[in-house]
Amino acid sequence: MYQKFQVHLQEELASIEDAGLYKRERVIVSPQGAEITLADGTRALNFCANNYLGLANSPELIAAAKGALETHGYGMASVRFICGCSDLHKQLETKIADFFGTEDTILYAACFDANGGVFEPLLSEDDAIISDALNHASIIDGVRLCKAKRYRYANADMEDLEKQLQEAQAHRFKLIVTDGVFSMDGNVAPLDKIVALADKYEAMVMVDESHSAGVVGKTGRGVTELHNLRGKVEILTGTLGKAFGGAIGGFTTGKKEIIDMLRQRSRPYLFSNSIPPLVAAAGVKMVEIMSSTHVLQDKLHANTDYFIEKMRSAGFDIKPTRSAICAVMLYDARLSQNMAARLQEEGIFVTGFYYPVVPQGQARIRVQISAAHETKHLDKCIAAFIKVGKELGIL
Ligand SMILES: *Cc1c(COP(=O)(O)O)cnc(C)c1O
Repeated sequence: MYQKFQVHLQEELASIEDAGLYKRERVIVSPQGAEITLADGTRALNFCANNYLGLANSPELIAAAKGALETHGYGMASVRFICGCSDLHKQLETKIADFFGTEDTILYAACFDANGGVFEPLLSEDDAIISDALNHASIIDGVRLCKAKRYRYANADMEDLEKQLQEAQAHRFKLIVTDGVFSMDGNVAPLDKIVALADKYEAMVMVDESHSAGVVGKTGRGVTELHNLRGKVEILTGTLGKAFGGAIGGFTTGKKEIIDMLRQRSRPYLFSNSIPPLVAAAGVKMVEIMSSTHVLQDKLHANTDYFIEKMRSAGFDIKPTRSAICAVMLYDARLSQNMAARLQEEGIFVTGFYYPVVPQGQARIRVQISAAHETKHLDKCIAAFIKVGKELGIL
């Protein structure tokens, strides 16, 4: 039987390749950081990791993880409701709640699981979910698993959100769900307006802080800090895989009863292993660092401002951003691929995105700034952009 299926897959793969959509992976042999080493020994400056605070290779987190390996071993080999969890998992849950000013936290193996497991246990066919059109794939999948009626509003479009809320009025419970930072433009959800509309139409709010936690707001507490709404949003989800150390793990944090219900009914929590204790220990350390100082945020914000200012004065078109994501607009798909490839030859790792990842005619190169970048790294990146930009007739 496999032969037929094999041919089918080979054809499908060839058509992905023909469309120029085939994804290839670079192999990195060094720790993640501003400078990385590739399998062929070449060095590159990394401008496409989610390593916003540079914690992916933090000596403090590594020490905390090593310590936990000694005291708590390697794996949990169990789901929590059957066999319990470690004190480190409990500590991390409390720390995350304190960080965001919420009541309780539940950990998952990834934010993909947190989003996949948040809707179905809480809402039924009597209820409605009103979701931003550009929300992350894991939110879209999570909503699909839930029986609630779905409504969609155009990205960050408050007029459209209000219209959808009016249409959803008859439902028992209504939940508005949005990414905190949208990953393609780097724009921040207008949470002040979303919460005001939620109040007006008696809806609840959920924010996925994956790209904003650690990054947005003066002390990195995310979009709720930026909009002065700490503790005001019912549900937050987030990842330990980006700014928060970059390893693995996700969480949902928010109202006590919501978290309690997720512990009873959320399937990715009930039927999947927890993160290793060493990741929980490093997570505890990470929140402690972030609660005691915001030097990393200060550096990240300064780096981002510096990069955008220099790129704009060189003549590049950068989307307005309030995060560490800078979209360098090229509009043309092929140009975005050529430019990314040429930048790679110059030792700069960035990714070119085009349709269907971004709308038709909106091709761009996405640059992600990190607190791990020093001014010399930023300058080298900007110089490479200018060189290649001139070569390709963009500047
Ligand atoms: C990255 C991301 C996720 C997935 O996080 P993982 O922990 O890697 O599964 C979920 N939501 C958003 C908005 C993200 O950017």
